[in-house]
Amino acid sequence: MKEYDYLIVGSGIFGATFARLKSREGKKCLVIDKRAHLGGNLHCESVEGINVHKYGPHIFHTSSKQVWDFVNSIVEFNRFTNCPLARYKDELYNLPFNMNTFRQMWGVRTPEEARTIIERQKQDALSEMEGKGHTGPENLEEQAKLLVGNDIFEKLIKGYTEKQWGRRCSDLPPFIIKRLPVRLTYDNNYFNDKWQGIPAGGYNRLIDGLLEGVETRTGADFFEDRDYWCGLAETIVFSGKIDEFYGYRFGKLLYRSLRFEEEVWNCPNLQGNAVVNYTDREIPYTRIIEHKHFEMSGNEVYDNPKTVISKEYPSEWTEGMEPYYPVNDEANNSLYARYKNLADREKNVIFGGRLAEYKYYDMAPIVERLLNGEYEKQI
Ligand code: UDP
Repeated sequence: MKEYDYLIVGSGIFGATFARLKSREGKKCLVIDKRAHLGGNLHCESVEGINVHKYGPHIFHTSSKQVWDFVNSIVEFNRFTNCPLARYKDELYNLPFNMNTFRQMWGVRTPEEARTIIERQKQDALSEMEGKGHTGPENLEEQAKLLVGNDIFEKLIKGYTEKQWGRRCSDLPPFIIKRLPVRLTYDNNYFNDKWQGIPAGGYNRLIDGLLEGVETRTGADFFEDRDYWCGLAETIVFSGKIDEFYGYRFGKLLYRSLRFEEEVWNCPNLQGNAVVNYTDREIPYTRIIEHKHFEMSGNEVYDNPKTVISKEYPSEWTEGMEPYYPVNDEANNSLYARYKNLADREKNVIFGGRLAEYKYYDMAPIVERLLNGEYEKQI
């Protein structure tokens, strides 16, 4: 008998939720994280009394009542609604693509006027695609033009996407852009989900709540002494990079990384919104996050005379950087499939989360899969 039932490697939303569910079933869990703090990329740090999302903005959103009730049983959520803006040169647009965007882009006022323009541009996109002999959208550029037409593609998608992914839109998979809603209503809510919000008091409360009563160790690197860690538990629950788990034996999977430039400003309200995307190619960052807006609404933002912003710079991942996004193109997906093949044959290892499953997950689907016991089926 080993000391623990589960050794959970990584304390992000996957690891912390796994630990919560299993420890409530009476299993003995140890959660380790190589960073000096828990929470993975959800981790926030208080700067000037403002919770700063150190690893990029996180907004919890779901249509699953089961998931929403579960996270709210850990911590109360506020009513933050994500309504990002897009800045293209001197122009400012609402996102996601909705009647406000179309009015700003073309001066149209009614859904019919907008639909007419989009339909015309879709037809052009279709002819262009067929001209290339493609029967359906084969890449992000074709998909985007089919969804919203060329004008929006050129101003609001192309530059942003090429900065974020470091690849041409014609070399990226179509599914990435399908995350974004397109609406013929004046609705700036970025998500279609029934519920969204930020944990009251910040994400650290969610992680601390999930891990309450669970043994944790920070600054603990699994790969530094793999045998020792594996010797501690019956089952290893791994949420790190799957290629690293297998010593990169088939080669390295590609990831996108991010770098944040944080600034404290001596003014209470710099951009009036949590998220402003910079969609032109010339500006090197993709977005500016003004953190106070996640937790302070209306004129509450003036209660604190200062504000903290982060400029987000995407880059290719290299050793020593944080991996954020899997690059789910064909080459990397098939490389992942080879690692997954090995993973499927493991008797006492469970793989879960963005890095271990090499999948562009949001937070809620991970929680949903865990609540439904999906990961137990792995072993
Ligand atoms: N996107 C875009 N323009 C924007 C925002 C997003 O073209 O102003 C595209 C971009 O390709 C991005 C994808 O939509 O990768 C998905 O965006 P989302 O906001 O879901 O990305 P995340 O919040 O996960 O970074």
